[in-house]
Amino acid sequence: MERNEQKAIEALLARHGFHFSKSLGQNFLIKREVPHMIASASGAQETDGVLEIGPGIGALSSELCRRAGKVVAVELDQTLLPILKETMANFDNFEVVPGDVLKLDVPALVREKLAGYTPIVCANLPYNITTPVLTALIRAQCFRSITVLVQLEVAQRLCAKPGTAAYGAFSVFMQYYTEPSLRFEVAREHFIPTPKVTSAVLRAEVRAVPPVAVEDEAFFFRTVNAAFALRRKTLVNSLMTAFGAQLSKEELTQAVTGCGLDANIRGERLGLEEFAALAAALKRRLG
Ligand code: SAM
Repeated sequence: MERNEQKAIEALLARHGFHFSKSLGQNFLIKREVPHMIASASGAQETDGVLEIGPGIGALSSELCRRAGKVVAVELDQTLLPILKETMANFDNFEVVPGDVLKLDVPALVREKLAGYTPIVCANLPYNITTPVLTALIRAQCFRSITVLVQLEVAQRLCAKPGTAAYGAFSVFMQYYTEPSLRFEVAREHFIPTPKVTSAVLRAEVRAVPPVAVEDEAFFFRTVNAAFALRRKTLVNSLMTAFGAQLSKEELTQAVTGCGLDANIRGERLGLEEFAALAAALKRRLG
């Protein structure tokens, strides 16, 4: 890390009387090279409008503004607004939207602020809200791609393949709607304050069409969640948690084996196609 860069950031924060908030997941990038690499991984270009979540003091925002047509950044911490005014003064394609990203109507914001651009997301996410933010961004169905800095374990989970320990219901959700790939790791010493964990940049290309045909998405994800409800048990036992009131164990076993799966298989072994087939079979049995 360049000592001067960190010193300049610390002086800026001290001048504004800024104090880091742990509950807001505030770990700021201090080395220019990392935001440069993240912005580059996002593929942002002039025709793109970027939604950034949590600009902090603008380390990543400025790199995005150099590449994209427009950058709209949602920041919850009001005390950062005067700092951003100073650090982002040279960029006329930057706009801060004060507020909580989890309370925003994301599609409405994109329609209002990024009209005429191809919307993408690029952000160093607050760690404590990674899952709800990613879920909201995917459900918004308006982004071409989502590039985020998250905990390394989270990035690995999102990209995990069936049969691995990291594979879970959120991996299925992510891989159904997007094609996620882990781009590179970011060591702890690139942030102030230094976090306890290693981070990684994940880029997810949003799919135009899901990779498997699913008739009822809500029911598909109900099946997926049920399959992972009891990780150490068989798929059939795990499915009992959600469907046991309507279907007997024997009927659930028949649904599983009817899809060509072993009666004792565990849920974590199933890929997207197998989950789609299982959901369709369960739906047929429920009538
Ligand atoms: N982008 C900056 C960087 O890379 O140095 C800061 C990233 S820091 C990990 C997360 C940022 O998200 C902080 O600025 C924090 O105040 C902001 N934040 C936390 N929760 C938020 C929320 N619910 N909505 C919007 N911003 C939030």
